[in-house]
Amino acid sequence: MDAQSLGYAVHVSDPVPISVTEPLPNGDRRTFQPLSTTLVHGERDAVLIDPPFTRNRIEEVAAWVAAGGKNITAIVATHGHGDHWFGTSAFAERFCAPVVATAGTIAVMHGNVEARPFAWDKLWPGQIPDAPVTAVTVPGDTLSLEGHDLRLVEVGHTDTEHTSVVHVPDLGLVVAGDALYNGAHMYVGESAGGGLDAWRDAIDTVKALAPRHIVAGHKNKDLDDDATRVIAETRRYLDNTETALKECASATKFFRTMLERHPDLPYGRTLLWVGAKTLYALREPDADPVAAAVGAWF
Ligand SMILES: [Zn+2]
Repeated sequence: MDAQSLGYAVHVSDPVPISVTEPLPNGDRRTFQPLSTTLVHGERDAVLIDPPFTRNRIEEVAAWVAAGGKNITAIVATHGHGDHWFGTSAFAERFCAPVVATAGTIAVMHGNVEARPFAWDKLWPGQIPDAPVTAVTVPGDTLSLEGHDLRLVEVGHTDTEHTSVVHVPDLGLVVAGDALYNGAHMYVGESAGGGLDAWRDAIDTVKALAPRHIVAGHKNKDLDDDATRVIAETRRYLDNTETALKECASATKFFRTMLERHPDLPYGRTLLWVGAKTLYALREPDADPVAAAVGAWF
């Protein structure tokens, strides 16, 4: 089988509103990020990566997958944040396919299940289906799709711990989860104490795979997947984050500074604010990381 039969398609789910009604410091309504779901497909079979997590968006994406007419052989989650996998059980049932992730991602999934009552289910009451951790690892973290490899590559800390990307060498494709962003503010709330440098290392790992296309887990659907641009812009955002964290004495100042430096990003301002509140809360003595991360949403 040649590479002609292999391809990929992306469905970007529009951001869902959040239950917190207080506006952001710039007056915006709070919404989540757009969510990218990727279908890597052969002639008959396909692998689904990072399905959405709220009921309405799950229905939309399930209809999109069904319309493609492919037999789903696996559902992959790139990392343990619930927005990338709380929907996997719903898809696994509907399409009779296993959920696959790396061991590190599976460990982080359990932490996100514990946080559901305090965070996810308060932000989206009644909208997230039951999501037990059903993900399994596969030998060598590699799936085969009609003879083509899909490799789950561990990249370490990005916007959370133990993240991975899916590399499809025969397409020059990396489905990056949240290792890279494309046209949205980034969630840096888990990057205190060296996290930004670890994230840069993760980007170097992705770059070494020499992808031509990168699908970011959170992207502006009007933008392409050009790997060189996506890598450069993600790095620039991390650099600006580091500078602003040094310059700004408060979360509000940091938020406003990042908006000024990235006026071209219509998405992710809520995540920018939540990350800012978390990092500045952690500057207080004896701050608890989990309490800071959860409290920043409300
Ligand atoms: Zn995410």
